[in-house]
Amino acid sequence: FFIAVEGGDGAGKSTQVEALAEWIRGKGHEVVVTHEPGATPVGQRLRTILLDVASDGLSHQAEALLYAADRAEHVATVIRPALERGAIVISDRYTDSSVAYQGAGRDLSPAEVARISRWATDGLVPHLTVLLDVSPETARERFTEAPDRLESEPSEFHQRVRAGFLALAAADPARYLVIDAGQDPESVTTAARHRLDQMLPL
Ligand code: C5P
Repeated sequence: FFIAVEGGDGAGKSTQVEALAEWIRGKGHEVVVTHEPGATPVGQRLRTILLDVASDGLSHQAEALLYAADRAEHVATVIRPALERGAIVISDRYTDSSVAYQGAGRDLSPAEVARISRWATDGLVPHLTVLLDVSPETARERFTEAPDRLESEPSEFHQRVRAGFLALAAADPARYLVIDAGQDPESVTTAARHRLDQMLPL
């Protein structure tokens, strides 16, 4: 069973991924927690390139392809092997981040970015995508970990990314759980658990 947790910077993804993993482990399942970009040795090098090179120092197509390369390696060496042995995989970011950031956020076609990712992943789609939706203003207030990363793009960019995520969820509501991530973290976890309780063989 494959769960992706998506959302903009400062939405609280890593906190929620850890909370959900702990809850599912408590029920006796193997849970593999992973993330993008950078969950594999090659991915770590790609992450360094992606985050070190300023957004204007890399063509948008090259950026999209490097994220896709990171994902291809992630799926082939981490996600698929874990799913095949029956583990529950929770990934902090997956394809939707590319569609939202490189597609909606930049000037690439979201459909084309999705197509590259489909190829890179051999069509592996999460059973459930939890979208943590938060306004860029709220995210900015709470994102003290690396504010320069948020500041490196104008707020219109983050607005487009948010709209890009919401459009993906609206197009396939059965496969998404959209949670207002402006709430306190415990309420967000409760909402996600409620949905997973109905879906998982727990
Ligand atoms: O989730 P994490 O904080 O590790 O992501 C690192 C950065 O990479 C984020 O600031 C995010 O803006 C960026 N990113 C991106 N496109 C993706 C995934 C992440 O621009 N597809």
